[in-house]
Amino acid sequence: MLWYWLFAIVLFMLFQSVTDFVTSSPLAYSEFKQLLHDGKVNEVTVGETSVSGTLKSGGLDAVLPRNRVESIKCGADGTCPFSTVRVTDPDLVKDLDAAHVRYFGQQRSEWLSTLLAWALPLLLLFWMWGGLAKRGGVAAGLFDVGKSRARVYMQSKTGVTFNDVAGIDEARDELMEIVEFLKNPQRYRRLGGRIPKGVLIVGPPGTGKTLLARAVAGEAGVPFFSISGSEFVEMFVGVGAARVRDMFVQAQKVAPCIIFIDELDALGRARGVAGVVGGYNEQEQTLNQLLVEMDGFDTNKGVIILAATNRPEILDPALLRPGRFDRHIALDRPDLKGRQKILQVHAHQVKLAPDVDLAAVAAKTPGLAGADLANLINEAALLAARRGKERVERSDLDEAVDRVVAGMEKRSRLINPMEKETVAFHEAGHAVTAEFRAHADRVAKVSIIPRGIAALGYTQQLPTEDRYLLKKSELLDRMDVFLGGRVAEELVFGDLSTGAQNDLQMATDLARHMVAQYGMSERVGLATFEQTASAPYPPLERSTAYSERTARLIDGEIARLLDDAHQRVLATLREQRALLDALARQLLEHETVERDALQALVREHAAAPAPATGDVAAQPVPEHAVRRMAGR
Ligand code: ADP
Ligand code: ZN
Repeated sequence: MLWYWLFAIVLFMLFQSVTDFVTSSPLAYSEFKQLLHDGKVNEVTVGETSVSGTLKSGGLDAVLPRNRVESIKCGADGTCPFSTVRVTDPDLVKDLDAAHVRYFGQQRSEWLSTLLAWALPLLLLFWMWGGLAKRGGVAAGLFDVGKSRARVYMQSKTGVTFNDVAGIDEARDELMEIVEFLKNPQRYRRLGGRIPKGVLIVGPPGTGKTLLARAVAGEAGVPFFSISGSEFVEMFVGVGAARVRDMFVQAQKVAPCIIFIDELDALGRARGVAGVVGGYNEQEQTLNQLLVEMDGFDTNKGVIILAATNRPEILDPALLRPGRFDRHIALDRPDLKGRQKILQVHAHQVKLAPDVDLAAVAAKTPGLAGADLANLINEAALLAARRGKERVERSDLDEAVDRVVAGMEKRSRLINPMEKETVAFHEAGHAVTAEFRAHADRVAKVSIIPRGIAALGYTQQLPTEDRYLLKKSELLDRMDVFLGGRVAEELVFGDLSTGAQNDLQMATDLARHMVAQYGMSERVGLATFEQTASAPYPPLERSTAYSERTARLIDGEIARLLDDAHQRVLATLREQRALLDALARQLLEHETVERDALQALVREHAAAPAPATGDVAAQPVPEHAVRRMAGR
């Protein structure tokens, strides 16, 4: 608003000075002197650079030529305003006296020029700063200093409930507990239990992290404070920390409530990783303040902090310590069922024609997150409206799918059916191999939902217990599982794909370690060759550590280990081909197969019984213990 006013004032002043000039008739200085001499001048104002005044209207044509007189405009009161540019004329005053004309001096109107001289550059500067701030440059957030409070959004009612969240039931159930805490804190405190302070929601963009946080507030009926981590970072030194403090003070006043920090990674990046000069200290200060506040406040009042990130790996470990964000909830892109449920939730808001089959839409959109699906429904509604329809029909949805999916293909990878089949058999290969190895970790979940940038699918194994020592037999089984994906592709398609690179890397590394470090190869013997980084005197060159002959021997042993593993896995998968096919089919159909379903398949299709092994403990395993086989 301020800018509009300033602009208006400047414009007004410019206008005024211009109109002054326009309404009076311009005269040549010589003409003015002539008129003065002949007594036709009424009144004169002598300015520093101009002379203006009024003329008597009668008898001008006696002095000036006809066409000049016509150009002089006169008012109704019989006077004709004029102006002329002043020239150096020392006799002017004398002549004015002689003509008996009333004359005034005029001080230069300095205020306008002063204003222009000072304000214009300032305005320009501010304007540039504003532009920079928008782009997140050095002076970013300059204008926010005064209104720091305004950016912490407080909603007393979010109006979102768990009914609005679909397809992420596990995360929802976990947060249900938080809702209970907020509704009913005494019940949990009764026995001296400590209510959790912070919950970190981890997941790719658009999977509903914010939505879930708002739903928790909505279900518990408590106020919801939200702020984004990236906003803290754009601020002046000290402001971020002050705002964190301020937010906690505010929150404690209205407790019970929820504080939601979006993009925690922007603020909670591990300290010591040098960022932008200057920005770095500020971010560290803000992070420290957040840690201090989290330690300092008393959960018994019922303030719970939820935070969201899609890059948990870069967070400062201090944030994840007990008493801070010690609970983690992982969200994934939804599977087929999940996508269908999310579509249903969003379809409530639009009018659908009866021929619409949301299950079919869900089947066509693997890899899309909740936000994409919401967008898809909206897109379809807009299309239908543009075509003047009363309801959203199947064709509208189909077109919206094409649009959204085409847009997605650029952003992330959506796999074509052929690739999808390859991925399905690849992952099935890992899983089946793992099931038929006595010493391998049990498979918890197989999925062909693309995850991250590199992985087109994954097989998740849960270790039965924490392990510090591994036996040779276990390492060999692990190597088999790494190779399982590749071997399945080979067996089923008779062709290889590039997708197994990561697996092969892991298998090779493992083999190299076994031979050169753990002394697990009889031919190479008990010696360990490769110095670890911590060795006090690293060899200058590899050849100084062992001979060329030994190097060849090691390489030969690595190749032999991998080759043996290859033969073993091939035998297993040949034998279990029926199971492999069944699992791949199930994956293509449902995208994820959980342990229960996998076991059912094993019972039904396995050629020989799977080796008896300790099964996965029934209780949930902490996220960090889950070994993921990324890559496909
Ligand atoms: P994130 O914070 O993970 O980036 P949001 O929570 O902002 O994602 O999700 C954006 C929108 O996508 C939500 O407002 C909602 O409309 C839709 N959405 C995402 N996930 C779901 C879900 N599981 N169920 C229903 N709608 C969802
Ligand atoms: Zn793989």
